[in-house]
Amino acid sequence: MAGLVKVITGEMFSGKSQELARLIGESLGQGLEVQVFYPAHAARGSHRDIDQRLSSIRGEGKLTLHPVPGGNAQYIADWTRCTTDVIAIDEAQFFSDDIVPVVKSLRREGKLVLIGGLDQDYLEHPFGRMGDLMCIANDVVKVHTFCASCRQDDAYISHRVTREQDQVVIGDNYIPLCEDCYLLATNGQAIPLFVD
Ligand SMILES: [Zn+2]
Repeated sequence: MAGLVKVITGEMFSGKSQELARLIGESLGQGLEVQVFYPAHAARGSHRDIDQRLSSIRGEGKLTLHPVPGGNAQYIADWTRCTTDVIAIDEAQFFSDDIVPVVKSLRREGKLVLIGGLDQDYLEHPFGRMGDLMCIANDVVKVHTFCASCRQDDAYISHRVTREQDQVVIGDNYIPLCEDCYLLATNGQAIPLFVD
């Protein structure tokens, strides 16, 4: 029987890792075997984040964490055990392009595939293969935090507050903004920021 693909996406700080950890905990609670893959090269806060979130539930069931060298998607296929019920992939935007066929074949093998990742980069471009993964998914959930400037609306994007031009810059250089505040900020206007 074919499995299912579920994508959880949104801007940074939107709670994707929390939601992924919740679903993993639910699976472990049902006695399912879970393997979690994340790119080793992007060892930013969110990995520590998911590690910490999972450490509280690690003792409860059959859970294995795999940092993936270079974000090579084939590694997921190579290391997936046939006994595993659930494959969770965090920071999926950093994986190689073949993440799409890898995920499809895991579903065909009957796995539940849970995918977390950023939808857009700081310039509003679809990030990595996230767009394709959303298309092939059975379910897509977009989660949001509040805009860090106006605090009125849901955030829309991770706005980069530093001047690097590369698509991938790891670190605490981002704030979640709604689209209106993002437009003001990218037009060079000073916007108020509320930092907790
Ligand atoms: Zn705003």
